[in-house]
Amino acid sequence: MDVVRLFSAEDLEIAHEFDGEGAYFCNTFRIGVQEYVYRDTSLAPIAYKSLIKRTAKLSLYKLLSEFYRKKLPWGSLTGIRPTRLAYQELEWAEDFAPLFRELGVSEENIGLVKRVIAGQRGIYSRKDGNCDLFVSLPFCPTKCVYCSFVTAPIEKTRQYLPDYLAALRAELVAAKPLIKNLRSVYVGGGTPFALSAAELKEVFEAIAPLRNNGCEFTVEAGRPDVFTEEKLRLCKDYGVTRICINAQSFSDRTLRAIGRSHTAAQVEEAFALAAPYNFTVNCDLIAGLTGESAEEFYASVEKAISLKPENITVHTLCLKKGSRLKEEVAALGDGDLPDMIAYSRRALTEAGYEPYYLYRQKYMAGAHENVGWTKPGFASVYNVDVMEESADNLAVGANAITKKIFTGEGRIERIGSPKDIPTYLNKVRALIEEKNALFES
Ligand code: SF4
Repeated sequence: MDVVRLFSAEDLEIAHEFDGEGAYFCNTFRIGVQEYVYRDTSLAPIAYKSLIKRTAKLSLYKLLSEFYRKKLPWGSLTGIRPTRLAYQELEWAEDFAPLFRELGVSEENIGLVKRVIAGQRGIYSRKDGNCDLFVSLPFCPTKCVYCSFVTAPIEKTRQYLPDYLAALRAELVAAKPLIKNLRSVYVGGGTPFALSAAELKEVFEAIAPLRNNGCEFTVEAGRPDVFTEEKLRLCKDYGVTRICINAQSFSDRTLRAIGRSHTAAQVEEAFALAAPYNFTVNCDLIAGLTGESAEEFYASVEKAISLKPENITVHTLCLKKGSRLKEEVAALGDGDLPDMIAYSRRALTEAGYEPYYLYRQKYMAGAHENVGWTKPGFASVYNVDVMEESADNLAVGANAITKKIFTGEGRIERIGSPKDIPTYLNKVRALIEEKNALFES
């Protein structure tokens, strides 16, 4: 289904036959009289199972690619972590490029993955006991049209805040003994700065005892309309090292169209307000926002660069179920996206940024990717650990996914907390016990 979705080919009649036994298998896909067959007879039994799926995707991709006379930038690769596959390949091969080429990945994207792996040098680490802490604050000033996240304008959820903060405190007290080597803390959302300074202070107070090694501490402050001097000073006082000023676009027309209640000028003001505090700053941009022209996106990239944040993340619009935009837009073609992505890669490289993490999502416009770019020496430990699933993630709050990595067994176990706040509040005790059991196992 993932490959079919890449081509928006859901209405096409595709016949599939699978024939396999022992170390032999054969996948045949047909559209009318056109067919593609992938056959392998030389596999070791262990490789056999994992390769059936990959080659089925590859053969279907090749058939659809010929049928539509269209190649996709990531070929038949539908997974959300291309670098993870590259690292796996590098465990036994000298180069991952031949595998990626075979899967139909473009030379540009093979080059991108190489640069990302180089950008992770010195940070990427797979060691038992490594852990990151995520604190979820699912509160926002208003809801953006492309957002599928379970978040509501804070006016509608403010009544839950006292109980929510108490639940976070309980989770954080319980989390402390479970963490061996804390690598980073990330307070995300939502928009953490949607909270008042006094509420934020409560969150920081609860985190402080866990972060006694002075590790990286990010607050995804968020949208500029909620930035205040007081909240920034509070961040500094509690040892925050990294904040996010999420512009998404520097076009006022686009910002209005996507339901943001701030202007591009306010983004610049937030940068100016944060400048004296010397945080590492990340700025998010989105390529492919409906109605935004390529020129507007190019101007956003240039504006972001001119503000000199240490990190710039370029997202590709992702139309998830639940977002207003998904409901409004039936199908989104590639449009100017390839040009926008090529432009951002070129401009950021010329400005001295290097890609250091990348991930993809289902329903991503044009089957592209999100890329985190950094000035040398400012890559975020949290982003690398999360994208590569190379460290445990203890996640507290609603709509947060805790992950325990069993490195030796190549296994990951997850505990997802309820997305809506009242259900989370009812279940917080049970969640604490579940996490204790997972981390003590
Ligand atoms: S600020 Fe972020 S989390 Fe909040 S509604 Fe907008 S996209 Fe969603």
